[in-house]
Amino acid sequence: MCSPSTYAISCPEHARLESEFRESRDRMRNLLRLRQLTGFEERALADQVAMTIARLKEHIAAHGCERP
Ligand SMILES: [Zn+2]
Repeated sequence: MCSPSTYAISCPEHARLESEFRESRDRMRNLLRLRQLTGFEERALADQVAMTIARLKEHIAAHGCERP
């Protein structure tokens, strides 16, 4: 079976940014599950996730390597 993630292999930078996004999103989810975060902490984590998304989008726009 073809995994959807194989698309990203054609662009290593895209794959790297995407895994960075996934990692920061998972980190936020894990922390939210582990304990009650303060509003400040939660916002800082959400900002980090948003930043990785922005970087990925920027790369796609500059590089034109969006998945079909
Ligand atoms: Zn790319």
